[in-house]
Amino acid sequence: MLANGEKAQLFPSGMAAITASYLHFLKPNDHVIAIKNLYGPASTLLKKYLSKKMNIETTFISGERIEEFEEAIKENTTLIYLESPSTAVFSLQDLKAVASLAKSKGIKTMIDNTLATPIFQKSLDMGIDLEVHSFTKYLGGHSDLIGGVVIGSHEEVDSIFHNEYELLGAKTAPMEAWLLLRSLRTLTMRVEKHQSNGIAVANFLEGHSQVEFVRYPGLSSFPQSELYKKQMTGSTGLMSFNLKTENLEEIKSFVNRLNIFQIGVSWGGHESLVYVPAISYLKELDEKQFKNMGISLSDIRISVGLEHVDDLIDDLKNSLDLIEQ
Ligand code: PLP
Repeated sequence: MLANGEKAQLFPSGMAAITASYLHFLKPNDHVIAIKNLYGPASTLLKKYLSKKMNIETTFISGERIEEFEEAIKENTTLIYLESPSTAVFSLQDLKAVASLAKSKGIKTMIDNTLATPIFQKSLDMGIDLEVHSFTKYLGGHSDLIGGVVIGSHEEVDSIFHNEYELLGAKTAPMEAWLLLRSLRTLTMRVEKHQSNGIAVANFLEGHSQVEFVRYPGLSSFPQSELYKKQMTGSTGLMSFNLKTENLEEIKSFVNRLNIFQIGVSWGGHESLVYVPAISYLKELDEKQFKNMGISLSDIRISVGLEHVDDLIDDLKNSLDLIEQ
């Protein structure tokens, strides 16, 4: 198996796989440690739903230092939930260190490994108990299916199958499973190409005068580069960068001038996409609440696809060069 797990169970979405895993690990009054910048609904499910329905308490930490995990552990902590790299701020958690700390305290660990894919990060080999993926992203890779998967030991996955999978009705459709099998045949080649395009685009952006900084684990300037090299063997094509301007109108014009990068919140498909969190979130949040999420107004996320890398760089350059000096 790609992820070196004993067993896997498909779900009809990544979020269904995450929900089933929470319900598998948690009982009323438990405490969870999770990273601050989790995929939004995975965080909201803990904060706003499971807190009310099952009195689950969650401590959110940046996850960049092992001491944060040590300090957050309580008597009733039963689960540590990781997303490394984080798809919002691209920070990493030290998987081996967290897994070993958790094991010493009898706490289960689970990771959303969607961004790295099982090709570039073998979290189970590093001691994590359960890996979840949205296969809507790189595993599917063609933006034509929605699905999720949990991967782990026979014991964990059998229990999820007989309980959360069978009883809650979140079944994968045969067509999606067939599309996933088709996609897995090209997964290695696709992620390698996403990575080589990603590195070239990230280096280009880092050198452009309108760009403040780039968040991409594959860059040599990545702040957690040592840890990246220790636990990942590649970096796929998702990254974010900050423009120097914080003027939302200018940022919108920059995005609207792009031709190849299409506007879209998802990622991991063959086509390149661009997404500006501020444009979506400021419809619901004020500026202060938005900044509390650890993302700034000028943050732009791109999913670098499989197009010719020169075309992608030209597209970005043409639009960046037109930003007012
Ligand atoms: N995990 C991450 C990191 C995601 O970005 C997403 C979706 O964007 C999900 C999980 C949920 O996946 P799905 O859309 O398949 O429910």
